[in-house]
Amino acid sequence: MRYRHLFGPVPSRRLGVSLGVDLIPLKTCTLNCIYCECGETNNCTLERKEYILLDEVYEELNDYLEKKPGLDYITFSGSGEPTLHSGIGKVVKFLKKKYPSYKLCLLTNSTLLNKKSVREEIRPIDLIVPSLDAATEGCFQSLNRPNPGLKCKDLIEGLIKLRHEYEGEIRLEIFIAPGLNDMPEELTALKSALERIKPDRVQLGTLDRPGTEEWLEPADYHTMQGIAVYLGNAEIIDIFKPGPKISSFDDSCSRQIYETLKRRPCTIADLKALLNLRPAEIQKYINHLLAQGKIEIDHQERGSFLKIKKSHGGRA
Ligand code: SF4
Repeated sequence: MRYRHLFGPVPSRRLGVSLGVDLIPLKTCTLNCIYCECGETNNCTLERKEYILLDEVYEELNDYLEKKPGLDYITFSGSGEPTLHSGIGKVVKFLKKKYPSYKLCLLTNSTLLNKKSVREEIRPIDLIVPSLDAATEGCFQSLNRPNPGLKCKDLIEGLIKLRHEYEGEIRLEIFIAPGLNDMPEELTALKSALERIKPDRVQLGTLDRPGTEEWLEPADYHTMQGIAVYLGNAEIIDIFKPGPKISSFDDSCSRQIYETLKRRPCTIADLKALLNLRPAEIQKYINHLLAQGKIEIDHQERGSFLKIKKSHGGRA
């Protein structure tokens, strides 16, 4: 069966072996983050609805999970904000009832957590990884470029409510964007928000792949370390450490991407057009090749190009 709503599983440093479930069409989201790996949000909405048919998701999950694959997590993530799908709670219930041995994870941008119905629907999930990149309205607007109906303070309130009601692990992620949220006033606001939210863990990330905006640069490791200490024992996601090896990782996709890059450097959009793979799927294989040290990103004025490293026979 060719899956349209499942991707991977791929090795992930954060989640081990994780099967992705994508409930949202590309690119539908409540935000339009400058660093988004899926490109510009062309449907920036707050409307919750059945964006894709649940029966299709159930059919694919049954087909995949009946083979009893070894997975660390089944993760709701992908081409947009998963909680925009009005049926996410039904998929959670379906998985918990039919495949109770698998742990569930949700990657969310936190924008809909202020809604009680959303918090109820995601409550049975084992691990929630929400993001919070800004704690001031100005920074939220410039970094996350939200739907006009969203306010930063409501997002923080939603996270606080989640913490009160939810008993599983909350692993909060912050994307550090130099010049936007690494200044003292922004970090002070983030720190006080974290003190109110009380997540179990805080993880810091920065740009490690082409984002929506070409001008965005990654934060350097020294800055990240300083921020981690200031925020109080935050962890830095080690973007270049190889993830776990898994037998179900589709080597042929990885090889196809590698062979394509051997011929010429490409952007993610080029690879998507050439290989007919979904951006979220391409991104996973690219992350794996980056982690293996086989390819690198060359940021140019015309865009961010992926190319074979010189040490692996790539051109200078
Ligand atoms: S990074 Fe996540 S939250 Fe931000 S626009 Fe992309 S999909 Fe939406």
